[in-house]
Amino acid sequence: MVFEYAPAPESPSVVNFASSYGLFIDGEFVEGTGSPMKTINPATEEVLAEVATASADDVDRAVGAARRAFEGPWGKMSGAERSKYLFRIARLLAERSREFAVAETLNNGKPIRESRDVDIPTAAAHFFYYAGWADKLEYAGHGPSPRPHGVAGQIIPWNFPLLMLAWKIAPALATGNTVVLKPSETTPLTALLFADLVQQAELPPGVVNIVTGAGQTGAAIAGHEGIDKIAFTGSTEVGRTIARQIAGTRKVATLELGGKAANIVFDDAPIDQTVEGIVNGIFFNQGQVCCAGSRLLVQESVHDEVVERLQQRLQTLRVGDPMDKNTDVGAINSGKQLERITELVAAGEAEGATSWQPECELPRNGFWHRPTVFTGVSQSHRIAQEEIFGPVLSVLTFRTPAEAVAKANNTPYGLSAGIWTEKGSRILWMADQLKAGVVWANTFNKFDPTSPFGGYKESGYGREGGRHGLAPYLKGEQR
Ligand code: NAD
Repeated sequence: MVFEYAPAPESPSVVNFASSYGLFIDGEFVEGTGSPMKTINPATEEVLAEVATASADDVDRAVGAARRAFEGPWGKMSGAERSKYLFRIARLLAERSREFAVAETLNNGKPIRESRDVDIPTAAAHFFYYAGWADKLEYAGHGPSPRPHGVAGQIIPWNFPLLMLAWKIAPALATGNTVVLKPSETTPLTALLFADLVQQAELPPGVVNIVTGAGQTGAAIAGHEGIDKIAFTGSTEVGRTIARQIAGTRKVATLELGGKAANIVFDDAPIDQTVEGIVNGIFFNQGQVCCAGSRLLVQESVHDEVVERLQQRLQTLRVGDPMDKNTDVGAINSGKQLERITELVAAGEAEGATSWQPECELPRNGFWHRPTVFTGVSQSHRIAQEEIFGPVLSVLTFRTPAEAVAKANNTPYGLSAGIWTEKGSRILWMADQLKAGVVWANTFNKFDPTSPFGGYKESGYGREGGRHGLAPYLKGEQR
């Protein structure tokens, strides 16, 4: 049964977007020389602001500013002093969390409940966590006197705009690097608010530079000679392009790419908890999550029961206005992403899988996709192999733990996996067999700054988060 709720809209008035934004270089906002682009609210298609495009010359200015800051005040500063700046950023983010949450939801389309309870607090937690490491780097297990690389070029996607920024900037600054970061072209606004926060925190100019733009701006960063380290999160395709671009140079890189995670349910799993975990695994952030549990592997004997309980639960999901605090599933981030989801859903149907969607009304404007469950999926189907990056679940079955492992690992990716069972020994055995960077047991999509995150195979290389997340930003003997 679905209870009727009165709408509980969050107020957009807690954030004041400027009508246009420049680039944040050397501690101030400056004009970009590329053609400006408009950024919209994907739930309404309304224009929120105009944002500059950084040309290769602008990127060069940003890298120059980052280099001067690295060779100047930031590079000379003690870890203890750097940590004070990081704590200050963390505190300011926590203080301004409502403004950032509203801005994130308006520009990304994700439910305000998620940006308020997950994205922004976890972003602040990353700064708090890495602030604590800044003066203890020699004890982090990366050699006795680890040193920063210099200038880090960081390129991030649109699905967790501020959180991905925090994953990149917090460890880079804690280790003494300076940064040129490019947010995604569809979600630049929280990065630009963050630039304002950097001014408020009185970071020395040039330590953090934010340049907006699309792929060409990203390519200008990756190709710039003055960049020492690249940190990229995004699609496997662009990750490959960057890897080719920097091959043979002295640049080091971490690539956090796509995924097609198996969420594996055994017949002894507690069913209510498991259904909640499946929902969280694939419908959190509209399924636009690299580690989403997009392949549900269910033990054959409980398949029908799990699917039925899941469908009942999905009937109660509230799809619609992301600014409403009751909303569970918001808007898809862009028309382009919606097209990709729609194309893969059509492919699933054409290949013979059976699709099911709960009844729900979708808003007239904006980009929307109903939660979708495919049953009767075989391993060769595109919807079992390709990353859909949307609210679409593919259900497959298995009989034995060994078959579950074989099917789970039958993917070009290897970012995450989930196991649902009461049996502890089976969890340990499975976790050992699964080729995935993160394995969740009886939970899913849990993020914590102390815990490393990253992939195998086409999901990329390098780890972000935790003590491991310091290593890519440090030169020194690895232990
Ligand atoms: P994308 O690869 O299209 O874009 C990512 C970023 O790269 C954007 O800022 C974009 O402007 C930039 N870019 C595009 N072309 C470029 C080029 N040639 N050189 C340099 N930069 C370029 O990805 P997206 O659509 O923004 O994000 C979705 C993808 O990100 C999914 O595949 C998802 O799995 C992945 N992702 C991975 C993680 C992870 O931690 N592994 C986290 C979030 C998202």
